[in-house]
Amino acid sequence: TNRTFTMLKPDAVENGHIGAILEKISASGFRIVAMKLTQMTKADAESFYAVHNERPFFGELVEFMTRGPIVAAILEKENAVDDFRTLIGATNPADAAEGTIRKMFATSMGENAVHGSDSDENAAIEGAFHFSGREMF
Ligand code: ATP
Repeated sequence: TNRTFTMLKPDAVENGHIGAILEKISASGFRIVAMKLTQMTKADAESFYAVHNERPFFGELVEFMTRGPIVAAILEKENAVDDFRTLIGATNPADAAEGTIRKMFATSMGENAVHGSDSDENAAIEGAFHFSGREMF
């Protein structure tokens, strides 16, 4: 069994999709280890997405991720990282497979409803960024 980290992004929260997305995550066999509604500061987002800081969309990404609350969560399942990325679908919802979370709930390439860690190492780093040991179950 292992873990991944997710954020339901500001667009998903604004559009009222928290319940539907969590339902889909649970139905797909993920156990919620940690979860909260929180808002990233500019410094948080710049640090969280530091790997993209040279990209042309970086400023837009930081603006978007800080404009309202997100749901941050740690999820547990066998093969969590890969299975979760399959469940959310391609970065661009236009390319996302039928039935994936991004196909169902994303608006655009930038406002794509949900984040999923891309490796076990990043899942651990990103989970620790948002949660203390006492908040993980
Ligand atoms: P995430 O890291 O959020 O799970 P991802 O791994 O599918 O997404 P990345 O390539 O790591 O995609 O990009 C991180 C985020 O940056 C994307 O989810 C999206 O919100 C934003 N992004 C990526 N490419 C673009 C783009 N061309 N224009 C605008 N925003 C983009």
